[in-house]
Amino acid sequence: MTTNPPLASLPAVAAAAAPEGLSTCALQQLDSAHYLHPFTDHAALRERGARVIVRGDGVYLWDSEGNKIIDGMAGLWCVNAGYGRTSIADAVHAQMSTLPFYNSFFNTTNVPAVQLAALLAAVSPPQFQHVFYTSSGSEANDTIVRMVRRYWQLAGRPEREVIISRRNAYHGSTMAGASLGGMAGMHAQGSLPIPGIVHIGQPHYAEGGRGMSEAEFGLEAAGWLEAKILEVGPDKVAAFIGEPVQGAGGVIIPPSTYWPEIQRICDKYDILLVSDEVICGFGRLGTWFGCELMGFRPDLIAFAKGVTSGYVPLGGVLVGGRVAHTLIDKGGDFNHGFTYSGHPSACAAALENIRILQTELLVERVALETGPHLKACFAALVAHPLVGHAETCGLAGGLNLVRRKGASVHDCEAFASTHAVGMLCRKHMFDNGVIMRAVGDRMIVAPPLSMTVAQIDEMVERIGYCLDLTLAEVQARGWME
Ligand SMILES: *Cc1c(COP(=O)(O)O)cnc(C)c1O
Repeated sequence: MTTNPPLASLPAVAAAAAPEGLSTCALQQLDSAHYLHPFTDHAALRERGARVIVRGDGVYLWDSEGNKIIDGMAGLWCVNAGYGRTSIADAVHAQMSTLPFYNSFFNTTNVPAVQLAALLAAVSPPQFQHVFYTSSGSEANDTIVRMVRRYWQLAGRPEREVIISRRNAYHGSTMAGASLGGMAGMHAQGSLPIPGIVHIGQPHYAEGGRGMSEAEFGLEAAGWLEAKILEVGPDKVAAFIGEPVQGAGGVIIPPSTYWPEIQRICDKYDILLVSDEVICGFGRLGTWFGCELMGFRPDLIAFAKGVTSGYVPLGGVLVGGRVAHTLIDKGGDFNHGFTYSGHPSACAAALENIRILQTELLVERVALETGPHLKACFAALVAHPLVGHAETCGLAGGLNLVRRKGASVHDCEAFASTHAVGMLCRKHMFDNGVIMRAVGDRMIVAPPLSMTVAQIDEMVERIGYCLDLTLAEVQARGWME
């Protein structure tokens, strides 16, 4: 006999026999009883109960209570083509019916993995002719740590092991991904970073650029890389990694001078340059890859999320000629890979997703139509008493909720962090049918690239309404200046 409660005595579990009939409350009970969520305070979640999302179509989601919600975050930065794409479902169904899975170890390959590799070579910058597949962005970044160190071994410089990353960067949740990331809260849980990974400051003008123009600050922040290289010793540094625009860190858009200067420094010290494009790739910024907009030529690109619009998990590393040729010509076995590397069903989803991005000109629309429209809408939101400043890049944007507005981004006064005004605002948003994410008191969006101009207007109108509700609440609590 086990000591578990008899299953039938739990009403929620009894209902599980007929999942289609589960009430929201029953689902929440089961969720709380059995499901450990990512990045979640479970004691707090139990109090509230999880929101149950049951359906998506286009840029809209529906929860189990029938509420229609406009998804300003494209799931988790990934549903670039929008929800409800039956052609992706059909492509995956057809592939699963033919060959759901086979591995790419032991000199075998499969049709979708080959086709996708060629398509990725076609849509990415010209130095990329090879891809290594994973199932997530974290695994892509773990692969990169191993690959750059392997590269330097093969190049006869095995002492080049150190990878330089940035604070407030997000590169995933595995040991190497979390180490590359610059999130103090993640490092604190589990003795991270792992050895050989060091961090410099982020190119965050509002945070660090007081007294400088944006252009000056971009050069200054890139200079931190050179200082770190000299501190570590140039002969020990393997690579620098960064997101073209930091996503989870709060849609931090670097000054235009930053990345070209990073490129110059990497060239000067012969260091590999890695672009984590898990968010910026596949059109988010109005170019296929963020490095194209920011003006740099990475040696390696990490991708995931938007490659399949999240319909099926897939990630990978685009490997530029410099690394690929060394691995191929001198490498022998690279002792690294995953059961699901080149998963045929995931690759089939990616092929159809990229076809949609291409045929509907979604990337071009972000550059020419929807991105500029979002920029204008966010600029207008700065008139709101609660909004200190707002920035966008392509279909990603952020606005800062402030206690007192200032003449420049450096003169705004923030709320006490204990007031958690961002989370309060986020709750008003969710309760009123629009999803934004809160990073501290910075509210961010990254909607599906299929969002139309009219839908952007609808989203921004709801955002404005929820900013009003948030303002009323912080005023009532006496938190406003
Ligand atoms: C989401 C993300 C990752 C991690 O991807 P997972 O698929 O969650 O492992 C890595 N880098 C960036 C920039 C991301 O946004």
